Amino acid sequence: MTKLVSVVVPVYNEKDNVVLLSQTLRDTFAVLPYRYNTIFVDDGSTDGTADVIRRLAAENKHVRYISFSRNFGHQAALKAGLDMADGDCVISMDGDMQHPPELIPVMLQKWEEGYDVVYTLRREDENLSYFKRTTSNAFYSMLNRLSDITIEKGAADFRLLNRNVVEVVRNFQESDLFFRGLVKWSGFKQLGIEYDPAKRNSGVSKYTFKKMMRFALQGITSFSTKPLYAAIYLGFVFSLLALLYIPYVLYSYWMGHVISGWASIIVTIAFFGGMQLMILGIIGLYLGKLFMQSKKRPIYIVKESNIS
Ligand code: UDP
Ligand code: MG
Repeated sequence: MTKLVSVVVPVYNEKDNVVLLSQTLRDTFAVLPYRYNTIFVDDGSTDGTADVIRRLAAENKHVRYISFSRNFGHQAALKAGLDMADGDCVISMDGDMQHPPELIPVMLQKWEEGYDVVYTLRREDENLSYFKRTTSNAFYSMLNRLSDITIEKGAADFRLLNRNVVEVVRNFQESDLFFRGLVKWSGFKQLGIEYDPAKRNSGVSKYTFKKMMRFALQGITSFSTKPLYAAIYLGFVFSLLALLYIPYVLYSYWMGHVISGWASIIVTIAFFGGMQLMILGIIGLYLGKLFMQSKKRPIYIVKESNIS
C-alpha cells in the first residue's frame, strides 16, 4: 500500500489563500508516489474561511477540515490537526503560502532516509520585516540561554513528523503548547533544513504583537524554571546589599544627620518596589500556568468537521 501523508494547515482568516494552497498541494502530490490528505484547521475565522474550506472539501476528496468554535490560537490548531491526522507522516505548514510547498518532496525524501522529524529553518530574508527578524532572533537567544533545549534561530512550524512522533506529541497534556520546543524535546532522529520564506500570498499577518509576546512567554515558561531562580538570586543579592546598608543608616542616625538620608531612602524604596513587583510577576506567571493546567480544560473545541 502506498504511504499516506497528511498535511495539516492551521488557518485563521485566510479565505483568499486556502484555494491556492489546496491547488498547490494537489499539484505537488500529483507527481509524488504517495497518497495524501489536507487537513485544514479553521481556527475560528470570521471572514468566511470555513465556507470556502467546506466548498473545497465537497469538490476535492483529499480535503478534510475541522472548524473551531472560536479562535484558540495557532498552536492549538496544530494540536487539533495532529490529533485528527491519520497519515504515516504528518506535515504541518502555514496557510498563507509563506512555507514553500517545493520543500515537501525534500522533506519526504529525508523521511524515507530514516529521519523521524524534518524541521525547517527560515533563512533571513527581505520578505521578512526587520521587526520580525530582530524580535525572533532575540527570542531564540533568550530561550536557548534559559532552557535546556536548543532551538535554532528561525525555526518554523513547517515540519514533517513520523507517525511515532505524532503519537508522542498527541499525548502531551500541556495546556500551554509550544510545538517548536515540544518536538525538539521529544528526541528521535531529527534533521533541520533551510528555506527562503515567500511573501504572504494575501491578507496580513495574524500574529499581532500581543500574540507574539504571549507566544514568547509561553515558550520560555514552558521550557525553563530558570527565571524563578533568577528571582531568588536577585532577591538574595539585594537583601544582602540592604543588610550592609543598615550600619550606615544607624551611623548617620547617631551622627545626627538623618534628614540627609531622604534621597537614598526614596531611591531604595523605589528600587526595591520595582524588584519585588518583577519577582512577584515571574512567580505569578508560573502560578498562573499551574492554575490553567489544573483546570484541565480542552485545548480547543471543534464546532464542525468532515472527519469521522
Ligand atoms: N494562525 C492561526 N491562528 C491564529 C494566528 C495564526 O491558525 O490565531 C495561522 C495563520 O492563518 C497562518 C499561520 O497560523 O496559517 C501563521 O500565521 P501568520 O502567517 O499570520 O504568522 P507570520 O507568518 O506572520 O508569523
Ligand atoms: Mg505567515
